[in-house]
Amino acid sequence: MTQSASPDIIAVATSFVNLLFKEDWGETELTPAEVEVLFATVSAAGFNPKEVVKDGLSDEVSHTDYHVIDQSGHVHAAATNWLNRAFFCTSMYRSKLIPPKRLWVPGQVDCRENAIDAIKTEIERSIPLEPIQLTPDGERLREFPYNPTLNGFSRPPVQAFVDHTRDEHEFRGEVGIHDYCEGRMKRIRVAETRDALICGRCHLRVLFPKEVQTYGELRGFLAAKIRLAPRG
Ligand SMILES: [Zn+2]
Ligand SMILES: [Zn+2]
Repeated sequence: MTQSASPDIIAVATSFVNLLFKEDWGETELTPAEVEVLFATVSAAGFNPKEVVKDGLSDEVSHTDYHVIDQSGHVHAAATNWLNRAFFCTSMYRSKLIPPKRLWVPGQVDCRENAIDAIKTEIERSIPLEPIQLTPDGERLREFPYNPTLNGFSRPPVQAFVDHTRDEHEFRGEVGIHDYCEGRMKRIRVAETRDALICGRCHLRVLFPKEVQTYGELRGFLAAKIRLAPRG
C-alpha cells in the first residue's frame, strides 16, 4: 500500500511487539489483556476473528499455543498461520537483544522499532481488498481467496504473509469472485466502448467503459453509476 499507516495500526503493532519483547515472553501464560492484544492484531490485519484461544484443539501448530477462531467457531487457518508468522518474525528481531548476539546489533532500541515497523507493514499488507459493489442490489466482487491449510509444525509457513488485490492493481482476465454466488468473474470485451464483467456461474453481467484499467477505476465508475440508478 502506498498510503501511510493509520495511528490505529501503529498502536496495534506497537502493543503486539511490546508484548513479545517482554522479559518473560513464552515463559508464562498470557493474561486476558495480553490475549486481547493478539485479538486486536489479527483484527487489524483484516481477519474478522471471533476470538483468540489457547491451543487445546489440535497439535498441528506447535510454534505457539494460540489459535484464531473464526465467526463460525472453527480454527481460522489463514489467521492462525499469520499470527504464528508474526510471532516468528517478531522473535527474530527480539532474539538480537539476547546475549551474545547483542554485540552484533548497533542500538537495541532499533530492534524493537524495526519489529514494530515490520509488523505494521504486515498488518497493512494483510488487509483484504474492500469488495466492489456491482449493482444497486448490493452484489459485490471480492478478491480471490487465499486458502491455506494449517501446516505450522515447528515453523510457521512462509506463505502466511500474503499479498492482496489492491485498488491500483490492473483489472484484467479473471478478476475475482462474485460474492455469495461464489462464481468466478472475468472481464471481456463486448462493445466498441464497453467491456463487461461476467460471472461464470449466475451470468451476472456488468458493463463499464473499456478505458477502465484498475480495480479502483472500476470501483469509482460503478459507485457513481449505482448512485444514479433508480432504487428497486
Ligand atoms: Zn457474448
Ligand atoms: Zn454469480
